[in-house]
Amino acid sequence: MLKRLLMGIFTLFISSLSYGWADHLLITYGALKDMPEVSQEPTIPAETLTHFVTSESDHLIPLLATLDDWSGQLIHYPKIPDELIFKGSADTLKPFTDRLRINPEMHYDALFVQYPPGQPHRLNNPIGKEAIVLPAILSVSNTINLPLEKMDPGTLLSPFEIILSAVDEPDFGMDINLFEDNGTEYGKRYKFGKAPDFVNNALAVGTQAPFHMSFFYEGKELYWVASYLKCTYPEYRIHAYLALSQQAFKDGHFYWGYRFLGWALHYCEDLSQPYHARLSPNTRDTTLMFDKVFKKTELQNIKQAETNKHFALENYQYGLLQDVISKPKNNNRFLEALGDRTHDAQDQMPYTDLYPRNTIAKESFDNADLVDNLVCAAFKDYVVPSYHFSETGEVQLYQVADQNDPNIQNLNKKLEDIFRSMGSHIRKIVRYATIVSPHQ
Ligand SMILES: [Zn+2]
Repeated sequence: MLKRLLMGIFTLFISSLSYGWADHLLITYGALKDMPEVSQEPTIPAETLTHFVTSESDHLIPLLATLDDWSGQLIHYPKIPDELIFKGSADTLKPFTDRLRINPEMHYDALFVQYPPGQPHRLNNPIGKEAIVLPAILSVSNTINLPLEKMDPGTLLSPFEIILSAVDEPDFGMDINLFEDNGTEYGKRYKFGKAPDFVNNALAVGTQAPFHMSFFYEGKELYWVASYLKCTYPEYRIHAYLALSQQAFKDGHFYWGYRFLGWALHYCEDLSQPYHARLSPNTRDTTLMFDKVFKKTELQNIKQAETNKHFALENYQYGLLQDVISKPKNNNRFLEALGDRTHDAQDQMPYTDLYPRNTIAKESFDNADLVDNLVCAAFKDYVVPSYHFSETGEVQLYQVADQNDPNIQNLNKKLEDIFRSMGSHIRKIVRYATIVSPHQ
């Protein structure tokens, strides 16, 4: 009984938290815009996924056969069913999307470019977001920088353009409705089992949450009560997309080398969001479990306050980067922090499969209490349970924030630190994936 009650609380905490940072393009733009290894010269021909999979079929068979044999594999990751093993593909994507267990209804062959807000478009051939985004989440995908520009196979693109266009794609529907109780035929075949209890199946984007957040550092008590907290899979996605990226580079499919790399970066960036790495900052596990239950705190209030803080941070960060990037002279402290390469050369720690967990998520977890305090101080009126922060965020916190307010200045300072760290993680992963590429 107690266990069920507690499970209910944790479910409320995270059921509506399904995105990471809004608009990954903004963060990635800042991290890579001055990185010499990421060229901005359009030299790489665009290629459909079907063409890549079909022509690479023989190399993908052994790669995908060993994809799950890696050091960091989570014991909770559901084994790939035999019938989904990749045996090659003549002219269809189904064996590939089946093997990766990603949403097969996405328009993976659509070739598009997403440009940063306010930046000039090199290509001008606009398409609607419905050509890219999964129909089921079209109405809630509000952070895309429109218009997207369509291109044909063979159109030359730069590594910078390809990565920036790919890095938001995992939020466009790739991980939606993959569980057996999500009402899809592929959800039944993929054998991920039922959605973990914290997933809110009623929310359009709720079912992607287990692929975009992880809780590695909570106390034993929490895992005892809510073992489903271990059912999170961003590491697995990162591993798969980096392996595919390296294979694509090795075999000269540079477009897919960079596009898979963009997909992998998305999940690493999600883990750098403190509210994606810590269930409830500033609440010790035991307090969370017992205090709030026995004091009969209104559960809906707890949920609303947690949700508000999470969205407040993302809403403010989104507005801030949108604003600074769209300025004509867009050098400022936040972009400089993201792009700061001062320590890149001295950083000798190699990238491994455990880096996202041991370094990125650990940093986020360690930052979470302080960030939570700063968010609460900066946005007092918006984090109280009586305020209902919606997912689409009708308030623009960056617009209403007073930049002379010491609480905002403190939050800005911490965001700068987080950006500096994220930028160096992003560049480390780019170097790791592109080491075999002559297009560096
Ligand atoms: Zn995400």
